[in-house]
Formats: sequence, structure tokens, C-alpha cells
Amino acid sequence: MSNRKIINQLIQLQELIVARMQKKAAMPSAPLEALDENIALLGKTLPAPIKTHLNRLLQKGPEAVVPVVNDNCAACGMALTRSLVNEVIKVDDLKRCPNCTRYLYYPSEVVARERAKRVFGEKTPKGIARFSAPSLMVFPLKGATPKAVLGELCERMSEAGFVEDHAKLLDGALQRETIVSTAVDNGMAFPHVRGVEGGGLAMAVGIHKKGIHFGGPGRRLTRIFFFMVIPTATSAFYLKLISGLSQAFREKETRDELLGVADEAELWKLLVKKTRRTIK
Ligand SMILES: [Zn+2]
Repeated sequence: MSNRKIINQLIQLQELIVARMQKKAAMPSAPLEALDENIALLGKTLPAPIKTHLNRLLQKGPEAVVPVVNDNCAACGMALTRSLVNEVIKVDDLKRCPNCTRYLYYPSEVVARERAKRVFGEKTPKGIARFSAPSLMVFPLKGATPKAVLGELCERMSEAGFVEDHAKLLDGALQRETIVSTAVDNGMAFPHVRGVEGGGLAMAVGIHKKGIHFGGPGRRLTRIFFFMVIPTATSAFYLKLISGLSQAFREKETRDELLGVADEAELWKLLVKKTRRTIK
């Protein structure tokens, strides 16, 4: 197996493992057999020494394969030597961070972040306002396909100044959905792009009144979209966030309230209110 193929396989495996955690957090009773099967299948073909080290890394957390960003390891922040970065780019050999020993890859697409605008003397926001904003509420979503809906969410992220290039962000989000759908059976989905570094986690929320087939044919319609860009360092927090959101919108009544909002301002108000207890 070529090194590039191993890296791609490690990234896929990591996404599946996080998807499993996400599913467990969102719906404790959700069946996990299909995911477990895929995880076992992908793991089986990896060279034995890599599998061993991967399992060791996974005990520390879900991030085992991380991007090199501005010549730093995205997980621990270690500054990498130029020669190591060049080797990571060439992929002649599988390289690990000398500090945290995670596998390194060089991202082909880098989604740039806009600089966070902080006003002097401004209070640090609390709860959901730490990573979302009224400008990131999208209502109503109009697209009829996953690509169209994700496109609307990505465009809003860039309009609101959270990322620079919405087309690259959309590529990343679509690519992620091909590994395993982020749709949950209660009409919600948690699409995301990992490895968008240089800022905090950011979340846009979109409501599609009619619903679309997001999780593939035969699945229930998806109406509520929580779309996130996740820097490597916030991976652990991301899982807490998913579980907080799932808890807040576990009851059908509460989800129906989201679907019944009149505009984006109301959506934001409701989101803040409903997550007050589950997202600190
Ligand atoms: Zn590191």
C-alpha cells in the first residue's frame, strides 16, 4: 500500500471513529453495527505497526492523524523543521510529530480563516454565543440537494467572515459526507469540516422547512442542520457540543419549535434559550 493511501485510510478511519462517538453522543440507543463493521474493515488492511501505534494514539483522543498548519503540528502546536515538513509533503515515508507522535499530513486544501474581530473591552460571550452568532443563522434553507444546502451554509460562513473561501469549504464538507453521513434519524444532521485551523470552532445553523434526503435514500428527511468548522485543537470540545445540542433537541416538541421560527433573529433567540442548560 502506498503511503498516500495509508494516510487517506487513516483519515477515513479517524472520521469513522469520531462519527461513532458522535452517534453515541447524539443518540445513545443508535445502532452502531454498520459503523463498527466499516471501522474493522478499514483497520484490517493497515500495516501492523501502524495499527498498533494508531490504537495507542486513539486512547488519548480521537485525533491520530493531524494536518501540518503553518509548519506546526495542528494537534500540539510543535514547530516542525523545514525538512520534516518537506518530507510530510512528499509522503515518501509516514511521518509523525516528534512531540505528540501523531501522524502528520499536509492538507491539499487549506480553508483560510478570517481574523477574529475582537473589540477592546467587549465581554467574552457565554454558552452557544462563544462559537455561533446571529449572522450564522440560515432560515429558510432553500436547496433541494445535500450539495445545495451545504453550499448555502458554507456561503453564510464566508459572508459572516468566519472563513475566506466557501467553495473549498463546500468541497471539504461534501468529502466528509462521502465517508459516512452525518445525518441522525431524528431529522437533524451535523455536517462539518475538520482541520480548519487558525481560530475557534464555528457553527452555522440552518432550517429546511420541507426537509431533504441528506442521509441517503430510505432515510428520514433532514430539516435541522448544525454545520461546523472544527480546528484540530477543539476536537474534544466538538463531541461535548454535539452531545449538548442533541440533549437540547432530543424531544420532538423542541425540534418542532425550531422548525416553526419566523426568521433568523427568532432562530438565534430560540437556540440560545434552548441550549442555555446543555451548553456551558
Ligand atoms: Zn504534535
